Amino acid sequence: MTVALPLTKIVATIGTPGTPGCTREVVHGLISAGVTVFRLNFSHGTAQGHEETAALIRTVSQESGHEVALLGDLSGPKIRIGPVQEGGVRVRAGEDVVLQTDEILATGPVFSSTYPDVIADVQVGQRVFVNDGAVRMAAIASQPGSVICRVLTGGLITTGKGINLPDTELTLSSPTPVDLEMAQWAIAHGIDMMAQSFVRHGSEVRTLRRFIDQASGESGESRIPIIAKIEKPQAVANIEGIIAEADAIMVARGDLGVEMEAAEIPIIQKRLVRDARSYGRPAIVATQMLESMIHHAAPTRAEVSDVANAILDGADAVMLSAETAIGKYPVLAAEMMRKIARVTEQWEAGRTHRSRGDGGSDFVSTDHWIAALAAGAATIVRDVNARLVVCWSELGATAMHLSLNRYPIPIVACSSRLSVVRRLGVLRGVRPVQMPTPATLDEFTARIDQFLVDTALVDIGDPVVLIAGHPIGTDRQTNSLAVHYVGNPSTGYRGH
Ligand code: PEP
Repeated sequence: MTVALPLTKIVATIGTPGTPGCTREVVHGLISAGVTVFRLNFSHGTAQGHEETAALIRTVSQESGHEVALLGDLSGPKIRIGPVQEGGVRVRAGEDVVLQTDEILATGPVFSSTYPDVIADVQVGQRVFVNDGAVRMAAIASQPGSVICRVLTGGLITTGKGINLPDTELTLSSPTPVDLEMAQWAIAHGIDMMAQSFVRHGSEVRTLRRFIDQASGESGESRIPIIAKIEKPQAVANIEGIIAEADAIMVARGDLGVEMEAAEIPIIQKRLVRDARSYGRPAIVATQMLESMIHHAAPTRAEVSDVANAILDGADAVMLSAETAIGKYPVLAAEMMRKIARVTEQWEAGRTHRSRGDGGSDFVSTDHWIAALAAGAATIVRDVNARLVVCWSELGATAMHLSLNRYPIPIVACSSRLSVVRRLGVLRGVRPVQMPTPATLDEFTARIDQFLVDTALVDIGDPVVLIAGHPIGTDRQTNSLAVHYVGNPSTGYRGH
């Protein structure tokens, strides 16, 4: 039987209760289509709403027998326009607009913002964008309590529209007090991973890391992973320091495309994915991937190419945003992503085979024996024509090393810990499975054999590569590999 799910992971943003995508049927459909991570966007909705959504996903996940991860996306210092009169205020090119610290209900070209202190950070000559860059202005004068901006591109400004200040060195930093409150909430509600928005420096990730570790009482490899969202020019400039502190990155092309030249985004995406992989970290490519599917049942050709190119760039996961959160065709969008991923990966597998292993990464691991075993496994996978790699990865490190090698086949990663199984949902090629730790490698082989027969993931007689440590389940002991033919009692780790 062919394994129908793609190696590339699909992250789906889930809306708040009451939105069309936040129903049992849709969540079922998304999980069946291959979604392994659900993003709860804390920029919208209430804690009560997120609690309901999380409970819905956990219930459906249990019913469907597929573990999925919940990703809590902390909103960070997103600056927004304050209250504006019903219907908004239209500003025109050439007009002057005032941004002031004192809150006001805007009825003309004088606006306030949700972070009043940032007004003082804006210097004359710097750009001020509103509504995802639809309205473009430049600061022409500043005085205590306000800044005057000349409108370059006009448009409508309504309550809560985002403000982007791409040139300004903000005194605001990430995480904000609201982020810490939501992180605490997320820990208390069993959220599996956290995304940090508007990061500019590695030190900001470290601050959140310390907070989460302390609040959750977890540390080391069992800690809750942080995904740093790269959406500021400063984050692109400081990428190495950020990747070194984070557990994964997200190329958050929405805000990044506003703060930087849109034409630069494809190259930045390639660089960021490559940099993440060279540090052994997964990368998610996000935003507007199948944007037209918010309203239409089929994507544009350009969107299909965009998803395929993100996969070819080496992304571990591709993300759906409004397509699944508020779109009319959430399940079709996820199915479309799965289809694109499968076709792209099939082509890539043939190419990798011919060019012998160009799917690897420059990552230099401190666990060099695990890295060596994972790299060597690529040759064995090819030479025995293996259908699957199966590993024991109690804390996820072995799965991460194997995933980096981009084998053209899935990696079944087993752990006794549910938290690890859920978090592995973001790694390319990895199919996490929870099972009690076997006493011996012999028992591991027997259990895997039974699992593969029961799930029909492969056929009897198919070769699979087993990777584990001795004694099995011990941290950082991954040191052995065996070829096993499914159903054959004399292959694998028999007798160990
Ligand atoms: C983005 O800006 O691309 C992004 C993913 O962030 P959000 O959806 O939170 O705006």
